[in-house]
Amino acid sequence: MVDSALHSDFVAQLSAELGDHQAALLVDALMNSPQPTSVRLNPHKAIGTMPEGKQVAWCEWGRYLPERPRFTVDPHFQAGRYYVQEAASMFVGHLLTEALEGDIPQGIRVLDMCAAPGGKTTLYSSIVGSKGVVVANEVIRTRASILADNVMRWGVGNTVVTSNDPSHFGSLEGWFDVVAVDAPCSGEGMFRKSEEAREEWSPDNVRLCAARQRRIMADAWRALRPGGVFIYSTCTFNRTENEDNMAWLAEEFECEHIDIECPEEWGIVRTVADVAECFHFYPHRTTGEGLFAAVVRKGGESRGNSRPPKARKSPFGVVDKQSAAAVGKYIDKQAQVYLATIGENIYAYPQAHWDDIRVVCEQMSAIYSGVRVGQLFGKKFKPDHALSLSTIVSTSATPMVELSLEDAIRYLRREELGCVGELTDGLNLLLFEGAPIGYTKRIGPRTNSLMPKELRIFQQ
Ligand code: SAM
Repeated sequence: MVDSALHSDFVAQLSAELGDHQAALLVDALMNSPQPTSVRLNPHKAIGTMPEGKQVAWCEWGRYLPERPRFTVDPHFQAGRYYVQEAASMFVGHLLTEALEGDIPQGIRVLDMCAAPGGKTTLYSSIVGSKGVVVANEVIRTRASILADNVMRWGVGNTVVTSNDPSHFGSLEGWFDVVAVDAPCSGEGMFRKSEEAREEWSPDNVRLCAARQRRIMADAWRALRPGGVFIYSTCTFNRTENEDNMAWLAEEFECEHIDIECPEEWGIVRTVADVAECFHFYPHRTTGEGLFAAVVRKGGESRGNSRPPKARKSPFGVVDKQSAAAVGKYIDKQAQVYLATIGENIYAYPQAHWDDIRVVCEQMSAIYSGVRVGQLFGKKFKPDHALSLSTIVSTSATPMVELSLEDAIRYLRREELGCVGELTDGLNLLLFEGAPIGYTKRIGPRTNSLMPKELRIFQQ
């Protein structure tokens, strides 16, 4: 069967790989079935009135929504209390927890090599929590900025965003416990969502993607320590970019098998490539887009936690005691943080992982890390919007004011607030349904938003 909107070679490839019947069901789902909407909740932020819906089977924080709301004008979305993520992609979190047998070790280091816009990064950040560090890398600088914004909104403070070519991670050889490659691919699994993906597909492009994926995989593999977990994923169906690449990896490098539990009722199709366990999400069988994911352990002798070479140049400056005291007032007393400057800004890092974060920032081109807490102007501290959205924000340092939905949207548009009379003169932490969404400064009858202009929304 051939559908005019899909490349005939693509349909032929599906038939050859899946058989005519399954291929026909898949083509029908790609062309005719509606796109499901799903979100993933942020477990590190209080969850009050949030989008409610059926849980995604393979992710405790995943929810299917009955319809697609206008996310941009939802203050909860802007404050990073959930991330809009298609459901199949959440499966990599299941692979990670299964591979670690449900036990996230203290000091864990995770590298997400192809990370923008940040769907999987924020999931890894939630799983790792206070136990360790996630390095989210994106080679394309403009995309890395979007990734940094999303990481900032997520607010857990355990993530470093870098913008490097995968080959640069050679200087952190054998350093990570987990390396994930969510590779750029031919995008067959996105055909339902994206006309562009359908138009750009060709057999030649599949081959080009597969070759590029192998280069990224080889660079990523170097950064992984022996005994560490390697997760590979694409949003495409074909064997060339998926099983063939995993088989290639196992031939080139020492890979070991990892047992993964995956109940049959989830509808995921399991395959094997050499020692790798592989998983296919087909939209006619699972509620979500197309996805391929696979996992292996790196074999070989562990040489302990190998130290990277000496730093080229440290971006960090020291925060003196007096400044630390002025800034510390705005940070939750329970949070154990290390403060350091980068340029004019002061950043907070989880104390337990400061050494690891420092190493990454000294080796790589880091564009965001930890939580940007603000700037000191003489003795006066100006907190950053990122602090208000982080899990370390103090709720006792400034007056807090609950906003109506109308005022919260005004705030997101950087307009004058209707409730200015209810604010205290000076700095106020604004809440929507109990959760912080940003700071504003009241000066008499006016308010000055501390939300950066670049983040303002334009929709009504
Ligand atoms: N992991 C992301 C998420 O869950 O939101 C999606 C990543 S997307 C599938 C693949 C990413 O790889 C893109 O952001 C793309 O810019 C990046 N990329 C493109 N070419 C690359 C290359 N040669 N090396 C590494 N990454 C590349």
